[in-house]
Amino acid sequence: MKKYDFIIAGGGMAGLSLAYYLSQSPLRDCSILILDKETKSRNDRTWCFWEKQEGPFESILYRKWNTVEFFGTTYKGALNIGDYQYKMLRGIDFYEFMKSHLARFPSIEFRQATVNRVKDTPQGGFVIADDEPYIANFVFDSTHVLKLNKPENHNLWQHFKGWIITTEKPCFDSSKPCMMDFRIDQQGDCRFLYILPFDERTALVEYTIFNEQLLSDEQYETALMNYIDRFLDTGNYAIQESEFGIIPMSDEPTSERAGKHVVRIGTSGGYTKPSTGYTFQRTQRYLHEIVQNLVANGKPKRHKPRLRRFFKRFLDSVLLNVLQKRRHPADDIFTRLYQLNPPEQIFRFLDEDTTFAEDLKIMSTVPLKPFTIAALDVLRKRIFRA
Ligand SMILES: Cc1cc2nc3c(=O)[nH]c(=O)nc-3n(C[C@H](O)[C@H](O)[C@H](O)COP(=O)(O)OP(=O)(O)OC[C@H]3O[C@@H](n4cnc5c(N)ncnc54)[C@H](O)[C@@H]3O)c2cc1C
Repeated sequence: MKKYDFIIAGGGMAGLSLAYYLSQSPLRDCSILILDKETKSRNDRTWCFWEKQEGPFESILYRKWNTVEFFGTTYKGALNIGDYQYKMLRGIDFYEFMKSHLARFPSIEFRQATVNRVKDTPQGGFVIADDEPYIANFVFDSTHVLKLNKPENHNLWQHFKGWIITTEKPCFDSSKPCMMDFRIDQQGDCRFLYILPFDERTALVEYTIFNEQLLSDEQYETALMNYIDRFLDTGNYAIQESEFGIIPMSDEPTSERAGKHVVRIGTSGGYTKPSTGYTFQRTQRYLHEIVQNLVANGKPKRHKPRLRRFFKRFLDSVLLNVLQKRRHPADDIFTRLYQLNPPEQIFRFLDEDTTFAEDLKIMSTVPLKPFTIAALDVLRKRIFRA
C-alpha cells in the first residue's frame, strides 16, 4: 500500500484550505490524497468574515464592504468598522479556485469516496474510504462528526435559512450588509435577519436563530416572507437560490489531536468560535500555523497559550450560558456590545485578538447581574466537572 505524506479526509473549506497552504509552502511536492464524498460542484454555502489586509482569497471574493449595518434595540444604523472590510466568498468560487489551483501539483491526488474510518496506528494515520485502505504520515480529518450532548456543557445551534432574492423595485443599499436586524419577534431566544446586498435589486436575506431547537422548513420560510413584506419595499420578488445551515455553538471540549498521526481540522477540530459560529477565518489562521510548524519541525502542532485560551473559552461559555438559560434578552446584549464599544474592537474581540484589559472593558458594557450569575454558574460547572 502506498504511504502518502498527508491524507486530507474531507475536501471542504478546511481540507482544501490546508491543501492550498501546503501547496504554497516548501512542502508543495509532498504526496497528498484528498478524499471527499462529494464533487464540490454546488454553491452550497456563503462565507463571510472580516479582515484588514488582502487575504489569500482576495481574487475570488464575491463582494467586500467597508461598513456594515446593525438594527438593535436602542441603536439602528451603520457601524464603523475602521480598517476592516467585511468580505463575502461564495462556496462555488472557492471550490473552483481550489480545484484549478491544486490541479497544477502532480503530487496532489483527489478521490471521490466516503470516509468510513479514520484511525491512529503506530505506522501512521489510517483511513478506510469506500472499503479501500489508505495510510499516511499524517491524516487531517474534517469528516469527524462532533457529538455535542453532554448536559454540563452549553450546546446551542446557530441555524439559518436564507434566500437570494431579486426584487422588482430597488430596495437594497449595496454598500451596506446588515450583520444583525433584531426588529423581529425574539420568541424568548435570539433571532435576527442577516442581509448581504449584491446590488439594489439582489440580496441574500437570511433568518438566523441561536437556540437548541431547529425549525421546520415552513417556519423559516414564513419568517423570511414576513420580514420581506414588513421591512423591504420589494414589489414582486423571485427566489433565485436558497441556503440552509446549522453551525454548532458549543463549549464542549473537542480534540483537535485525535492521535499521534491524526489531526482534526475545521468544524471537526472545534475551530468554530462557540459564541458566534464564525469558523472561516479561524480555520485559515489555525491551518496556516499548522503548515508553518510542519515546515519548521515536521509536526502539525499549534501554539495554544493556555491561560489566554482558558479565559477566552470562559467568556464564550458565559455568553452561551446567558443565551441558553435566557438570563437576559439577546437583542439587548448584542446592541450594547456594538453600541457601547467601537465595533472595530468587537471584531478584534471576536477574533480573540484583544488583551485581558480590553476584554474586561468590553464585558463591563453587558448587563452585570445576568452575566455575573452566568459566570458563577460556568465556574461551578467547571469545578464540578473537574
Ligand atoms: C450554509 C453555511 C454558511 C456558513 N457561513 C459561514 C460564514 O459566513 N462565516 C463563517 O466563518 N462560517 C460560516 N459557516 C461555518 C463554517 O465556516 C462552514 O461550515 C465550513 O464549511 C466548515 O468547514 P469544514 O471544512 O470544517 O467543513 P465542510 O466545509 O463542510 O467540509 C467537510 C467536507 O467533508 C466531506 N465529508 C463529510 N463527511 C464525509 C465522509 N464520511 N466521507 C467523505 N467526505 C466527507 C463533505 O462533503 C465536505 O466537503 C457556514 C456554514 C454553513 C453550513
